[in-house]
Amino acid sequence: MSNKILVTRSSMPDYEEYCEEIKELWDSHWLTNMGVKHKQLQAELEKMLDVPHVTLYTNGHLALENVIAAMNLPKSGEVITTPFTFASTTHAIVRNGLTPVFCDVNENDYTIDVTKIEDLITGKTCAIIPVHVYGNMCAVEEIEKIAKKYDLKVIYDAAHAFGVEYKGKSSASFGDASMFSFHATKVFNTIEGGAVCFHDDNLVQKLNDLKNFGIHGPEEVAYIGGNAKMNEFQAAMGICNLKHLESEIAKRKAVVERYRSNLKNIDGIKLCGVQADVKSNYAYFPVVFDEKIFGASRNEIFDVLAENGIGARKYFYPLTNTFECFNGKYNVNDTPVALHISKRVLTLPLYADLSLDDVDRICDIILRCKKGI
Ligand SMILES: *Cc1c(COP(=O)(O)O)cnc(C)c1O
Repeated sequence: MSNKILVTRSSMPDYEEYCEEIKELWDSHWLTNMGVKHKQLQAELEKMLDVPHVTLYTNGHLALENVIAAMNLPKSGEVITTPFTFASTTHAIVRNGLTPVFCDVNENDYTIDVTKIEDLITGKTCAIIPVHVYGNMCAVEEIEKIAKKYDLKVIYDAAHAFGVEYKGKSSASFGDASMFSFHATKVFNTIEGGAVCFHDDNLVQKLNDLKNFGIHGPEEVAYIGGNAKMNEFQAAMGICNLKHLESEIAKRKAVVERYRSNLKNIDGIKLCGVQADVKSNYAYFPVVFDEKIFGASRNEIFDVLAENGIGARKYFYPLTNTFECFNGKYNVNDTPVALHISKRVLTLPLYADLSLDDVDRICDIILRCKKGI
């Protein structure tokens, strides 16, 4: 069916542009291990994101696992985080042998509720891993204050926040480090890929070693590392996509503005608040449905959209603190706001080339679900 609409569609450069970028790899035969494309993309990102250091990875998840590992956190330490996120955030904590402690999110932008962090701090707390969910910036200043007061590391899961700015500062510049995902579905992609951005010069070598089996030199293995290196074809894709980032974000903005004007002031529909002082990347368009007022549930609307060939996403549902792999270790009632939102939220299709006519059609289908219309 030609008029099927998926929830997202990867940004790609022109075929010829990519071929031109990878051509020299057939001369050099250097395909991975910090090649020229890797170095170039890293330098471009350091400049664009305005941070002293960027380390590139084969995906965002391993970037997060590696930067947590690099922080030297105490064994069995506790990490304060939120369950309203992708599986990756919580898994990265647990796979590092640390214990996630779930803090609720706030009702305005679904990022960590900073008024609830201090109550969760114990003698074992060693870090906070908040999520800039949907590209919404966490309350970075409040988080910094708390982290200073209790001497905690802060690592942002900034997977959604590439290109976002707060008070004119890059989203990459906050906390001890920020992790970005360059997965095909993200605003900026390297097919699969990711990065860690940070200030501390001492972390550079450690992160580079960790992503390459912990190998420090030809005859020296300093860490028990894995393999998480970005290859040259990924980096070349990034170099090309970065050139078009601004126009992609501008097109996304037009899509989001159309959604907003179609869906604003509808009883039973709650849109995410627009954050003050934030330059958005228009990464996602979450809509929260109140069945009692709207007359149709999130799940019904999801099904009706699917019947019409439109892919929305229950993002994020279920919460990570309900995952069966955790065998009931966590109590979902500790995070009531996150639970409430996760049962009611849908992210609607959003990508640069989504036509405004399609946005209107999607909104019409949603509004026809409303009781009494
Ligand atoms: C995409 C994503 C990740 C993981 O990134 P990958 O590049 O897919 O490994 C982590 N956290 C969040 C919130 C994400 O959306």
